[in-house]
Amino acid sequence: MTRCHTIAIFNHKGGVGKTTTAVNLAASLAYRYGKRCLVVDMDPQANATRALLGKELDETRPTIRCVLAPDGETSCTLSDILVGTVVPNLVLAPAALNLSEAEFKLATKTNRELILREHLRTVGPSFDYILIDCAPSLGLLALNGLAAATRVLIPCETQFLSLRGLRYVLDVLALVQSQLNPTLTVLGVLATKHYILSKANAEALHCLKNLKQVHVFDAVIPRDVKAEEAPSHGKPLVIYAPEARATKQYLELAQEVITLCRG
Ligand code: ADP
Ligand code: MG
Repeated sequence: MTRCHTIAIFNHKGGVGKTTTAVNLAASLAYRYGKRCLVVDMDPQANATRALLGKELDETRPTIRCVLAPDGETSCTLSDILVGTVVPNLVLAPAALNLSEAEFKLATKTNRELILREHLRTVGPSFDYILIDCAPSLGLLALNGLAAATRVLIPCETQFLSLRGLRYVLDVLALVQSQLNPTLTVLGVLATKHYILSKANAEALHCLKNLKQVHVFDAVIPRDVKAEEAPSHGKPLVIYAPEARATKQYLELAQEVITLCRG
């Protein structure tokens, strides 16, 4: 039986491409490489859910909130909430906007950081890769994501301020590793939203590629209008725009991830 790799997509900063990466890395792994993938939407903005379903989730359907912090008597397992996507082999554990309430409810629970981890154990054998789209904070939702993962992928814009923030992200991850999840390792940093014509972006990319303390992926995700358009069509890039520059880089990233996880 092949091992399931659980990768948290994390950066405490919003807008850096976490959701775009979770959706398109998973779609690339599933569509091109035939890997069985699950995306867990752990962000109350529920953008990964919208991007993979192309419509709002039917309100009667249970979401990740029901797994983490059920209302009253009704509780759900992860298997109860999974929904299929347009990509064969790619399944979603959806979120809705009410996920933020779950964070309050979690606060009073024992083992509150480890709830997702317990649930993922039960579905792990059905998947090759589980990608967790983390919330842009360091609250209980993000901690649940980081506690459940064995690896973390850090999207980072090729901008000076994002690079500055990267040191803090690595410090936070070291803390999580020592206090919560000793099995967690950094898979790598991914340069995102790279504007090829910008000199400042080129300098930031150069600095990123020269970092010694962390692996930096060869793939560089360019700023690409197709990446912006795809979520509103409910299709990942491999289906919405197979020839786009960003699509090709996400496929390259998928290959790198497979190689790193094999090693
Ligand atoms: P996060 O999940 O870190 O908040 P998102 O993935 O939602 O970030 O991306 C933030 C915004 O940037 C979204 O509007 C998204 O469509 C856009 N975006 C992300 N990656 C790219 C890209 N490579 N090219 C152009 N726009 C992008
Ligand atoms: Mg997001």
